[in-house]
Formats: sequence, structure tokens, C-alpha cells
Amino acid sequence: MQQNRHVIQRIQWTVVLFYAVLIIVPAVHPLPPHSAHIWDNVTLFAQFLFWGIWWPFVLLSMVLLGRVWCGVFCPEGTISEWASKHGRHGAIPRWVRWGGWPFVAFVGTTVYGQMLSVYQYPKATLLILGGSTVGALIVGYLYGRNVRVWCRYLCPVNGVFGLLSKLAPVSFRTDPQQWQASRARGERPEAVNCPTLLPLKDLQSASNCHSCGRCQGHRDAIDLRFRAPGSEVVHESRYRATAGELILITFGLCGIAVGAFHWSASPWLIEAKQWIALWLIDADWMWPLQTHAPWWIFTNYPGQNDVFNLLDGTLLLAYIGTTGLVLGSVLTGLLFAARRSLAPASHGALYHLAHALIPIAGCGVFLGLSALTVSMLRAEHVPLFWVGSVRAVLLGSTALWSLGLFWQISGKYNDHAVRRCLGTGFGALAIAVVVWAWWLLFWGW
Ligand code: SF4
Repeated sequence: MQQNRHVIQRIQWTVVLFYAVLIIVPAVHPLPPHSAHIWDNVTLFAQFLFWGIWWPFVLLSMVLLGRVWCGVFCPEGTISEWASKHGRHGAIPRWVRWGGWPFVAFVGTTVYGQMLSVYQYPKATLLILGGSTVGALIVGYLYGRNVRVWCRYLCPVNGVFGLLSKLAPVSFRTDPQQWQASRARGERPEAVNCPTLLPLKDLQSASNCHSCGRCQGHRDAIDLRFRAPGSEVVHESRYRATAGELILITFGLCGIAVGAFHWSASPWLIEAKQWIALWLIDADWMWPLQTHAPWWIFTNYPGQNDVFNLLDGTLLLAYIGTTGLVLGSVLTGLLFAARRSLAPASHGALYHLAHALIPIAGCGVFLGLSALTVSMLRAEHVPLFWVGSVRAVLLGSTALWSLGLFWQISGKYNDHAVRRCLGTGFGALAIAVVVWAWWLLFWGW
């Protein structure tokens, strides 16, 4: 990768071009007729590529390869780094470094995407993806020198990608002894400009490394190494897990994201909507049923018979918010119980235990996203009889993976068999809650 930077740059700018065409062209075309197919309509093709392939499989690539997508293919990373090279090179302000961004940006884009029906309508896609790209450009122009400030701190999926890449079987890592030996020899190698501003001396986590390869071989200490999948979660997360990551896992990936996939299939939401609508009609309060917002606030496509009134929009937000709050609180409570049962485990153990949920949380979001892939392929009459079984196998195997992580992490804090079993037992309950939420969507309803 070091020796072929120009090839990588060509790939990056080709992706930028492709991306620009696919978010702009469908937005200026009329919406597809019902008879259109993925292969003969640019809007459906772009929809399938962005939401059916790109998004779920980029998520999967994080678990398999770490953040190679970010370092080699992501158009926003390319644009942000280019802007940073030619920009004002300002110092990074404190608000940019705020630790809450991974959660706030993820939840913000997830919820806003549902308000606009981003998976269905190209104008919504242009607004959300294009808005994020403009953000990457502006932040790149203002801050840093030839680096990716946007990707490191503000990208809406940075936190999620950072969590999933902890499971990857490969990562760039520093051998501390080699590093010390190089210093002892008095070597002064040329500094490496890490695009995500990582302290290379202490490179032990795949979370923020974009696998760009620029530091490979630095001081003979940094190398791309294999590791057991999930080993970072067991060994490294003990020192690095944060409260922000706990919240992102429990309230974000296992809460708000579940609500975002649930609401359109939930019989509870339909029941609540009917009950409130009847009550409003009885009370002669028709305005919540008749008021509509522009498409960039709530879905509004009368030609497609797809318009949210004020009641629809409010209930959508209430449903996602309540799901996030309930699931997040239950999961955090169970993690807390797991930590208590491992007493005298430190407070950091709570955050560490939360990392055990990453496999099942990531699998759920992957399955939720790939549901769109499935429904688009089903509309094209592709035989998909195997999908249910694959979903069950993925949920089952990642649940077991999470359970194994709970067992290993528990052993780090207490080697008493009963306490370790108790800690893992509360972890198992947390896993069961997440599996139940996805079971409802794919089988229960
Ligand atoms: S740590 Fe190395 S491989 Fe990772 S982003 Fe920085 S320079 Fe690239």
C-alpha cells in the first residue's frame, strides 16, 4: 500500500466520482414507476447499491478486515483529506473532540433518515449523504493538515465502525519492545502523518486506524498482524472501553437502531396510531391528522401515496425514542448486574462488559440493513427461501460469540467460578433481550 499510493488515490477518486453520480442523478430523475427494475432504472440501481449492498456490507467488512473501507474506499475520507491538504490547517477545536459525537451523530442520522424515508427516496439520500459529505469537506478545509479530522471525530458511523473493527482478525499494531529498541539505537526515522492522528507508539486497537498502511514498518515496530477475532475486546478493551461506547452499544446499536427498523413493521405502533386517531376524531381535533411537513422534515410524496401527517411523524419519533430508552435501560441494567456479580470489579468493568455485546449488536444491525436488500431482490423474484435460515444462523452464532466474550471478560475480573457464571448469566440475559428484539422483527410479527 505504501508503494502504490497513486493506485490507491486513483481508486479513491473513482469511488468519489461514482458516489457523486449515484447520489445526484437519481435525485434529479422522476421517481421510478412500479414496473421498473434494479437493472433498468438508475434510481432503483442506486438504491440497491447504496442501501442494499454498500451499507450492510461495509458494516460486515469492518468485522472481517477492520477499517480498510475507511482508508481506501470511503469518498468522504478522500474528500476530507484532500480538503485538509489544501485548506486552512487550523487547530482542532475542543468541540470537535467531544466524546459524545459518535452517539449523537449516529442517532441523529438514523432518526432523521427514518423521518425522511431515506431508503426509498433519492432526495432524502442526497440530503443526508450529501450533507455528511459537505460536512466532511468543510471540517477538512478548516482543521488539520493533510489528515482526516472529520473521520476521526465527527463521521456519523465512526463510533459504530470503531466498535465493529475491534472484532477484526487483522490490525496494524506496534510492538513496544521493537519501538524501544529502535529508540535505544538512536534511530530518527521520518515522521509518519497518520491521517487519523493516532499516537503510533501505542497502536494496539483497530478502532481508529483506517488501515492506510502509511505507518507499516515504522521503527521496525509497526506491522499488519493477525490476531484471534475478538481478542482486542477481551484484552485491550479493559483499558480503553469508555462510557460513550457503552451508551452507543446499549442505547444506540441495540436501542435506537432496533426502533428504527421496528417501527414500520410494528403492530403496536399501528394499534397506538388507530387508538389516538379515533380519539382525536372524537375530540374533533383534526389538525394533527391533516397537517403535513415538507419532505425534508417528514416524508411527503403525495404522488406515491406516501405522506406522513403530524401524528405519523410524532409517533415514529416516540416509537424509536421509547424503544431506544427501554432497550438501552434494560441492557445497561443487566450489564450493571453483571459487573456487581463480579465484585470487586472496578467501574471500568461495566464498559468492558458492554463490549461483549458488539457481535450480537453488529449482527442485528447488519440483518436489519440487509432486510432492504432482501425485499428489493424479492421484488425482482430472486429465490430467497434460504434467508430465514441464514438469519437464524447469524443471530445464533453471534449470540454465542457474545456469550463467549462475556465468559472471557468475566474471568479478567473474578476467577471464582460461581461469580464468573453469574456475570456471564446476566450477559446471557442481555444477549437474549437483543435476540428477542430481532426475532420479533423477522419472525414474531
Ligand atoms: S495507524 Fe498507520 S495504518 Fe492506521 S491510519 Fe494511522 S498511519 Fe494508517
